[in-house]
Amino acid sequence: MTDDPIRCSFCGKEQGQVRKLVKGPNNTFICDECVAACVDILEESLASDYIAANPGITPEMLASMGYEVEPDDDADAESDAPVTPVINRVPTPHEIYDELSQYVMGQEDAKRAMSVAVYNHYRRVIEGGAAEGAHDESDGRRAAAPLGKHSASPDDLGDVELAKSNILLLGPTGTGKTLLAQTLARILEVPFAIADATALTEAGYVGEDVENILLKLITAADGDIERAQVGIIYIDEIDKIARKAENLSITRDVSGEGVQQALLKILEGTVASVPPQGGRKHPQQELLQIDTTNILFICGGAFVGLDKIIADRVGNKGVGFNSEIAGPTSTDENDLLRQVLPQDLNAFGMIPEFIGRTPVITRTQALDEDDLVRILTEPRNAIAKQYRRMFQLEGAELEFEPEALHEIAKLALARKTGARGLRSICEDVLQQTMFDLPSEEGVAKVVVTAAAVRGEEQPRRVA
Ligand code: ADP
Repeated sequence: MTDDPIRCSFCGKEQGQVRKLVKGPNNTFICDECVAACVDILEESLASDYIAANPGITPEMLASMGYEVEPDDDADAESDAPVTPVINRVPTPHEIYDELSQYVMGQEDAKRAMSVAVYNHYRRVIEGGAAEGAHDESDGRRAAAPLGKHSASPDDLGDVELAKSNILLLGPTGTGKTLLAQTLARILEVPFAIADATALTEAGYVGEDVENILLKLITAADGDIERAQVGIIYIDEIDKIARKAENLSITRDVSGEGVQQALLKILEGTVASVPPQGGRKHPQQELLQIDTTNILFICGGAFVGLDKIIADRVGNKGVGFNSEIAGPTSTDENDLLRQVLPQDLNAFGMIPEFIGRTPVITRTQALDEDDLVRILTEPRNAIAKQYRRMFQLEGAELEFEPEALHEIAKLALARKTGARGLRSICEDVLQQTMFDLPSEEGVAKVVVTAAAVRGEEQPRRVA
């Protein structure tokens, strides 16, 4: 009995069969192999505890936090499928522009500038992949070169690093800035997130950390960090984080400047640590790692007053002393904004480092009555088309008389919120009809007249 060999109390292997046996109380032992097996079991259960405590977290997020994630059966099935690259093919600037034009009316400058910038950005993303590929073998050419006009050759500019072209989009509210960014993401089939610069704070202050913007993008990518890393982020109201005064000495407003500083790193490209549940970071928290190098940032803002700064610089006679014109018209403003230089943005309160990281500057223009009528009727998912479809579901045709469309546009102009007011004006005009129609028989057609838009009558029902 006393000669019994020492064995692992778990697997029964003898001392000679394993590397190490660890002794426990009451003559129990555990071998190194069983310890390793226990570690695996514990890690797996920690991961599933984490998933249970954090709904919405995905295996990809866990893996990026360093957890060992067991592939599940579904994932096995997927892994048999061909691996799709995160970006397949970048449409040409012409293709991007044409597609944008189906949704965004007017705004020619912005559509052209952004088509080029976005094309260059994703070309750069794919070139980055090619540079990595060049290390493994052959001559450094991409195997599949769907974009391939430029392939590396020994004496060309292959080593030149392409700088990132984030976009600064100036323009009044409701003129399509968000729509442009959103539509671009849809054309490129990349994840998209919108953030509001006014909600951001420097680390350490109350408010949202800059990293939470990235979490929104990860969420938009269903937790797929790889996809999020080539997404588009639109940061709205970027002008609201300008320094408040150009004279910094006494009344220095540090908060806006601090947020600009906080944004610099992610705009330029960094590996950021993001709390998976949002909110503020705290020690001991597991963090997602996301590389922002290939994320395209589009920063938009109205920049009210920037036209005056530019006018002062260029000595515009229409503004200021002895001027015969009371103030700049919107066309003057558009022309002035076209001449914007980094120094004007600096005078407005954007710090030079920030301006340097959004090298593509473009603008949307104030919309006039005709633009608003086009927006009502022409885009693929135009508001008027949407209402016509809704009425069709009730078995009635809906017609907007041309004067009615102009009346709606005039009302929207008066609200000074760009195209933003159009839907709610239509909703007001059609609400009573939409309330009654489903319980009425025999209405074949509803006609919206200018008088109906002015509230002088109800839209006409035709039997
Ligand atoms: P911004 O970001 O400039 O404040 P948005 O892009 O959010 O404005 O536009 C507000 C609304 O008006 C959206 O519903 C959008 O579809 C519509 N809109 C604005 N400008 C245009 C445009 N140029 N073409 C088509 N729709 C537009």
